[in-house]
Amino acid sequence: MAPAVWDGVLWAGLGLLAGLLVSLLADLAPDGPRAGRRCRRCGLERSWGAYAFNLRPCPRCGYRPRRPWVLLLLTAGLTVLLRFTATRVPFGWLWPLTLYFLLLAVIDWEHRLILSELLAVGLVLGTALGVARRGWGATVGGALAGAGLMLLLYALGRLLQARLGAGEEPLGFGDVLLMAVLGAVLGWPGVVAGLIWGILLAGVFSVALLAVCALRRRGWVGRVYVPYAPFLLLAAWLLLV
Ligand SMILES: [Zn+2]
Repeated sequence: MAPAVWDGVLWAGLGLLAGLLVSLLADLAPDGPRAGRRCRRCGLERSWGAYAFNLRPCPRCGYRPRRPWVLLLLTAGLTVLLRFTATRVPFGWLWPLTLYFLLLAVIDWEHRLILSELLAVGLVLGTALGVARRGWGATVGGALAGAGLMLLLYALGRLLQARLGAGEEPLGFGDVLLMAVLGAVLGWPGVVAGLIWGILLAGVFSVALLAVCALRRRGWVGRVYVPYAPFLLLAAWLLLV
């Protein structure tokens, strides 16, 4: 085979390994190594062998979540795609950032949670990339603007929540800190575009979700919770690519 093909196979393999790592961290980071290995459906505590990255069915109830498989294919595909296409940010930066974004998005989607340890890692990674690309001024400015704008939306959300007496928090404080990380990555004024695109993507998804629910005649689903972080991450990632 031609060297380019071998190169592709190699990077697909590395992408699979990275996907396993992201999936493992997504299982274990929120609840710890013991509780993280529990079956999501029946709660069975599994040994490392029975857990097997959640790729095997649960020995008691047979449940096998789809997410680890989806994540493996996604990381392998994205790794090859990013490796062999020209992107705005070099592959050496973009690959770890992509894996990090995926990890945050999966955990927020499944647990509605943005871990502060992961945010700290992101702030270091994002600041390093931002400074390397456009210096301290735009990086710190981007981080401050991102957090500031999100804080404004957060305060607005809390105000609405108090007025309407709604139970669910519209935005978490984790979203504010996440926007600081993304602000460092995107810099000033790119962070504004990132925030607007994130809100638009979340809006489009919500409308599509409502349409699907309406078509299935499940009635009004005004209380379905849509986490914001995955859309903010997706928007930032698209801007980097
Ligand atoms: Zn089970």
